[in-house]
Amino acid sequence: MPVTPSRWLAEYAWLPEHAEPTPDVLIEIEDGRISAVTPLTPGSRPPAGVEVHAVPLPGLTLPGLANVHSHAFHRALRGRTHGGRGDFWTWRDQMYAVADRLDPDTYLALARAVYAEMALAGITCVGEFHYLHHRPDGGAYDDPNAMGAALVEAAAHAGIRLTLLDACYLTSSVDGQPLAGPQRRFGDGDAARWAERATAFQPADSHVRVGAAVHSVRAVPADQLRTVADWARDRRAPLHAHLSEQPAENDECRAVHGRTPTALLAEHGVLGSDTTAVHATHPTSPDLTLLGDSRTGVCLCPTTERDLADGIGPTRLMADAGIRLSLGSDSHAVVDLFEEARAVELDERLRTRRRGHFAPVDLLTAASVTGHAALGWADAGRIAVGARADLVTVRLDGPRTAGVPPVGVFFAATAGDVEQVLVDGRVVVAEGRHLSVDVPAELSAAIEAVTPA
Ligand SMILES: [Zn+2]
Repeated sequence: MPVTPSRWLAEYAWLPEHAEPTPDVLIEIEDGRISAVTPLTPGSRPPAGVEVHAVPLPGLTLPGLANVHSHAFHRALRGRTHGGRGDFWTWRDQMYAVADRLDPDTYLALARAVYAEMALAGITCVGEFHYLHHRPDGGAYDDPNAMGAALVEAAAHAGIRLTLLDACYLTSSVDGQPLAGPQRRFGDGDAARWAERATAFQPADSHVRVGAAVHSVRAVPADQLRTVADWARDRRAPLHAHLSEQPAENDECRAVHGRTPTALLAEHGVLGSDTTAVHATHPTSPDLTLLGDSRTGVCLCPTTERDLADGIGPTRLMADAGIRLSLGSDSHAVVDLFEEARAVELDERLRTRRRGHFAPVDLLTAASVTGHAALGWADAGRIAVGARADLVTVRLDGPRTAGVPPVGVFFAATAGDVEQVLVDGRVVVAEGRHLSVDVPAELSAAIEAVTPA
């Protein structure tokens, strides 16, 4: 890897608690952490003729972006599921066909390319909601965590951090139908055996940490929810769960348990300050209170929710209930956190026919510091002394961003405008190119290997 300069002079940098970016900020890095942040205001600017020995960073430098919800293998479906009308459930059948063809080697190749695509988009940390645990017939690999290990290696190759959210997935419906067909490889039998396998997975690499996930109330019986919640709580590890993505899930949960999925999770100890509910597109008003009062966060995945015709979550009501919002690209129909972030505001405009629900800094917060915290990296996502040196520089002279004030970047830029990315002080992307992965070539090859002809 190239030697990383330790002093960078950002044309603009978005500093914590600032409503707008600050011009001319000197950022110094030591051992992968930010050691000094100095806005060169006219008073502090060195006298003319005295050089600041720092590498210039033209454009706007943001803290690293966090992609809180990913299923890496779904990237293979991009652009392939739009032939018929279809819905979430027909899309899911196509997704299962890809899942059926993955093994640890093909998964490593695909995830490495997908995570490198994320690096190009300014994502410095990903939360992988991982349920593809076993062989297609449900039998364990020689290493029962071989698929998880492939994801850890993939993130290392791509140069980003990973929170592996090991998902417990036991049943195919809220009323406890057994897993069948392509779902068999998701299951561990019961939550105790899930916990045993998850406990055995202890990657030592510094770029990874392991958390837990309840796939959904469809996939974990009510009497086993607490086993997963306790496993995460004992380790102070992040705990994630798909929640109310579809109205059908709410209907089935009410029919079987007489309460909403949120109420069921609350009753069995799943909600809390280390918990993130993914989607929460169809909550009731009491659900929002339960989420807010328990300090549970919500990860919104607007581009996936629009792709799958899920609906629009009540994001302003969530924020008003005290719910911390983060963002994920989920199915990777799009990998672009600028698009996810502006959708939070723009979808709310469509629903309410009013503008101005979230300030630009709110969108940055969801895409960066809140997201990193939801993945268990509370020391990332801020350009501040002591934080991990994740820096994402967006050009302001490209066709989409020219003439845009820096504060408007979330309403103008795309992932393609990311020019340089540092992760833990190391340059991973320079001049818009990944330094170790040929992303388009590797995506093409990896997807061809796992998509049915
Ligand atoms: Zn998901």
